[in-house]
Amino acid sequence: MKYGVLGDIHGNISALRTVLERMRAEGVDQVLSVGDVVGYGGAPRECIQLLRDVGAIVVKGNHDAACTGELDDRHFNVHARTAVRWTQTVLGTEDIEWLRSLPLVATLEHCQVAHGTLFRPELYDYILSTTDADPSLDVMERPVCFVGHSHVPIALLRLREEPGRTAYSLDGDIDVGEAHVSLVNVGSVGQPRDEDPRTAYAMYDTEAERVCIYRVDYDIEREAQRIRAAGLPGVLADRLHLGV
Ligand code: ZN
Repeated sequence: MKYGVLGDIHGNISALRTVLERMRAEGVDQVLSVGDVVGYGGAPRECIQLLRDVGAIVVKGNHDAACTGELDDRHFNVHARTAVRWTQTVLGTEDIEWLRSLPLVATLEHCQVAHGTLFRPELYDYILSTTDADPSLDVMERPVCFVGHSHVPIALLRLREEPGRTAYSLDGDIDVGEAHVSLVNVGSVGQPRDEDPRTAYAMYDTEAERVCIYRVDYDIEREAQRIRAAGLPGVLADRLHLGV
């Protein structure tokens, strides 16, 4: 079984189309999304529609919840809040209903999916260290769990040879067969923040027991222009070119 895993998309349709084309070419059986489908970018409806078209399994991100009014956006920074308000004006009733219907956690045959953390996912906390990862690693019901939220790829693992310690890896090729449990942040499709502006996506081959994170070029300027044309803050367009 081959899973294709999408990190935070944030309304970036050019990046989403690029990675879905790659996944189709690679023979992906099931597309997964760690949430934050909308917010920041200029094509939220198109991204929702495309995920529905490919039958993606999607969990709810904090920006998705803010756009449906389920999460107070008071703690968002001013640009994120502006984008939430704009997104609310363009989403249709059906889009809102679809976002509302998303679960916080998806548990599949081979893996689990959550937005920020698997432990208490409703808090939308960040996993930035091995310590942050421990509560989620402790409650994993499958050998692999995919998350997003920080927009920075990282893997947190409890290796078979040293199960009492949580290790981390920044390698884009993860041998999950070597670990009891692996928590993988797949980076971001639509707004990478690791100073690499290329779009990110992951593939999980369950037979090979490997998770690979890939980076590919896409038409960044087109999406930057879409953000400016929508009247969204220019900083949201500029950051796409910088990968921050
Ligand atoms: Zn996000």
